[in-house]
Amino acid sequence: MRSRKILPAILALSAMSIVARAQQPSTESEVVDKVVRQEQAEVELLRQYSPLVETYIQNLRADKQLGAVPDGDKYFLGRAELAKGVDLEPLEHEAGMKQKVLGGFAGFFSTEFVPRGFLQMIFLDTNGFDRQHYKIEYARREFLGEVRCLVFDVDPLPKAGKGRFVGRIWVEDQDFHIVRINGAYGGSSLTSHYFNFDSWRVNAGKNQWLPAFVFTEQGSVRDEQTRKMRFKAFRAQTRLWGYNIGRVQGEQELSKILVEGLNPANDQSEGANDYSPFQAERAWARQAEENVMERLERQGLIAPRGEVDKVLETVINNLEVTNNLDIQPEVRCRVLMTSTLESFTIGHTIVLSRGLIDVLPDEASLAAILVHELGHVVLGHRMDTQFAFFDSVRFNEKETFRHFDFARTPEEEEAAKQKGNELLNNSPYKEQSSTAQLFLQALKNRAKEIPNLISPHLGDRVSTSLTIVAAVSSAQPSAAEAKPSANAIAALPLGGRIKVDPWNDQLRMLKSKPAGLLAESEKRPFELTPFVLYLTRQGEHPSTEAPNVAAKADSETKP
Ligand SMILES: [Zn+2]
Repeated sequence: MRSRKILPAILALSAMSIVARAQQPSTESEVVDKVVRQEQAEVELLRQYSPLVETYIQNLRADKQLGAVPDGDKYFLGRAELAKGVDLEPLEHEAGMKQKVLGGFAGFFSTEFVPRGFLQMIFLDTNGFDRQHYKIEYARREFLGEVRCLVFDVDPLPKAGKGRFVGRIWVEDQDFHIVRINGAYGGSSLTSHYFNFDSWRVNAGKNQWLPAFVFTEQGSVRDEQTRKMRFKAFRAQTRLWGYNIGRVQGEQELSKILVEGLNPANDQSEGANDYSPFQAERAWARQAEENVMERLERQGLIAPRGEVDKVLETVINNLEVTNNLDIQPEVRCRVLMTSTLESFTIGHTIVLSRGLIDVLPDEASLAAILVHELGHVVLGHRMDTQFAFFDSVRFNEKETFRHFDFARTPEEEEAAKQKGNELLNNSPYKEQSSTAQLFLQALKNRAKEIPNLISPHLGDRVSTSLTIVAAVSSAQPSAAEAKPSANAIAALPLGGRIKVDPWNDQLRMLKSKPAGLLAESEKRPFELTPFVLYLTRQGEHPSTEAPNVAAKADSETKP
């Protein structure tokens, strides 16, 4: 029975791939047709997804030494409703981005939908990317990472109308998906104003290329008539993730549990497995932590457990060991997916934002941040254990930041600072605390220019007070005054450490080569840099599809 069901499927598949190969286009015109069809299919395919969308904008002002430096910023977090085209629901209870932030979008962007304007840049043109509206000309071949691409220049035809794309596209040469869009939406003439953008899609399994990163840059623009500034120069990064969040997880987990159920765990009936009241209290608190983490993970706000958590936990371990701490239940670390710089602790779970980890120059600076949160744990600062009741973590997504607020009282903050100081003093990181000090100082200096980056959504802003390191460096009074070495980096640019998989939210440490000696203007602490991705092809979704296939096979064997 089983083999008869499976066999035709295999035959059908191989027949399809033969057909596909036979249909490989051979002329430029055929390739262009294929690219156009694939892009139309992409827009349709993306309709099933509601990824999270984050846009962070830094206004820039000229600086004699450094070129351009941040001068004000804006932050927006929302959920895309791609089923409705380019639609966006803000996730924050008060709008993160004021409506007329940029002083007016020219072209076809309405001012009221600035965040939508950035989301729009994941598509080339949803309303007429074809040969009736565009001239599409082959330019050359180029590798983006390990993906071989064909590069095309795209220009709107004169009759195509306003707001059309002008620029260049990179198309992978197996299925002809657009993987990179670089250009702008313009008016019908090149003199009217438009924003430049560079939009990247990443492979998430066989035939799926998901829009994930958009970099936007614009110089300042003056109004032709009035000579007034229309808007300041800015840079912006838009990130999308959480495409697969809440889609197959539940099913997957259940099938895993059902499989595990067939092999009962070791019989522990001889051990002491009843709970004392103390243990019950701890178990209750842990339950609350887990409910909150699970809820945030399902929303795409907390990354699934992975290698970055382990890195943080290793630092926590080093701090605990050298301070003779035996904390029960063990301290866990998780990562908040946002670019904002924030951290918080609930019970024995320490959470750092991806954005914060991204800008830390080294392990000692990471330790200086973690030790403060560990201070909250050691001091037993309480969390709201109502979250142990599952119904208390079920609420409308838009209420998230109002419902979950893990900020501490000023008294608790002060106490954690003191405790953190003490813990750091007993740790191996004490010796390298000058870089941590440099980091905190840089953050303090920049704070006024990046208010939205340092405004937390769930926890506390990073304490830039130097109490932690001041006491440490008192052993070497000169350290605090000493000028940093010529190539010391106080803080990395945004996105400097962690790679995000937009499909399943898995985080990995970036593996880039050391940059070598940097000019002062290249260091760009807390600043936005362009996205340049090393594109790769993935096989299937190893972690998501396999269990479903297994589950189907199982169900087929049932009588
Ligand atoms: Zn704190």
